[in-house]
Amino acid sequence: MDARVSTQQAIALTEALIARASVTPDDAGCQTLVAEHLAAAGFAIDWLPRGPVSNLLATRGQDGPVLLFVGHTDVVPPGPADAWSSPPFEPTRRDDQLYGRGSADMKASVAAFVTACEAATAATGLRIAVALTSDEEGPAQEGIRAIAPLIAERLGGIDWCLVGEPSSQNQLGDTIRVGRRGSLSGEIAITGRQGHVAYPAQADNPLHRLMPLMAELAVTRWDDGTREFPPTGLQITGVDAATDAINVIPGHASARFNLRYSPASTAEDLQQRIQAMADAHAPGATIDWKHSAQPFASEPGALRRAIEAVITRRRGVAPRADTAGGTSDGRFIAPLGAEVVEFGPVNQSIHQVDEHVALDAIGQLARDYAEIIQRLAQPGPRQD
Ligand SMILES: [Zn+2]
Repeated sequence: MDARVSTQQAIALTEALIARASVTPDDAGCQTLVAEHLAAAGFAIDWLPRGPVSNLLATRGQDGPVLLFVGHTDVVPPGPADAWSSPPFEPTRRDDQLYGRGSADMKASVAAFVTACEAATAATGLRIAVALTSDEEGPAQEGIRAIAPLIAERLGGIDWCLVGEPSSQNQLGDTIRVGRRGSLSGEIAITGRQGHVAYPAQADNPLHRLMPLMAELAVTRWDDGTREFPPTGLQITGVDAATDAINVIPGHASARFNLRYSPASTAEDLQQRIQAMADAHAPGATIDWKHSAQPFASEPGALRRAIEAVITRRRGVAPRADTAGGTSDGRFIAPLGAEVVEFGPVNQSIHQVDEHVALDAIGQLARDYAEIIQRLAQPGPRQD
């Protein structure tokens, strides 16, 4: 069923995207190129820009459930170009790999699902949509987050959402993501009274209250996780006290921390528990909170079954489903009621110097996506 997926076409499109230096939020023409491909394959193109951010929604088909591919065309900055073995925005084939910034995160996936959409013209009874943004690696405010309600409205709901983020660890398809943890950061500030270390009775050392509090935060077990989420974890990321002198008790102390939390806890609950601990150690302590991502988890449905069946058939091993990694744009689609699964190439080199993707994986991924489309378009029992 995948005879019409062209490996060379998928690789050529990946290279053309890498050659466009699309550091967030500059799309550098990536989405125009994708739109040309999709328009030629019968997709209607909607441009949904927000300020400097480019957003594209392409749709094809009138009837049936909706499969939405989500991706981003922006990349993180390459850092010093001379640290790279070949220029970061010059796609370079070397040792069966394709090198370039964004190759794995996630221009290969974008090229693969565009190629799959071009090949799957015969998929009937299914509406296929592609949503791209140039604001995933940056603030992620004007991208999928901003246009998600509009996408849902234009499509009349979203049944399945396949995010092409690089989910695989060692081999293409060894891992898929079925949710992501939430992210909650806090900065605790404690005020004491500055003084001479030799006269502690006339001072009040805030570090002596901050440190026991930090110690408690570091060892607290927040929850047990869920079936698919590891337990919530807290990392202390910085401690400051405003003096450099060895004989001065500081007047202020502060500390920063971040929680990656499972759906077994809520952000509100974690905030209350930590504020209570802070009150116990240091009455009057204030905490500045930043809640940057809700966790999301999708109940296993037809999309996950299709992805697992395709990977198992083509690789001989079923993928592991996990919820690791940072946040992703899937968190903005899941609340709309869609089943969200992330499946993309190996993530070992993402955001690094000499980012690369296996050349072979690009064609494989395009075939995987095409077969997933076919399976969702023709539901029913299948013999694997
Ligand atoms: Zn990414």
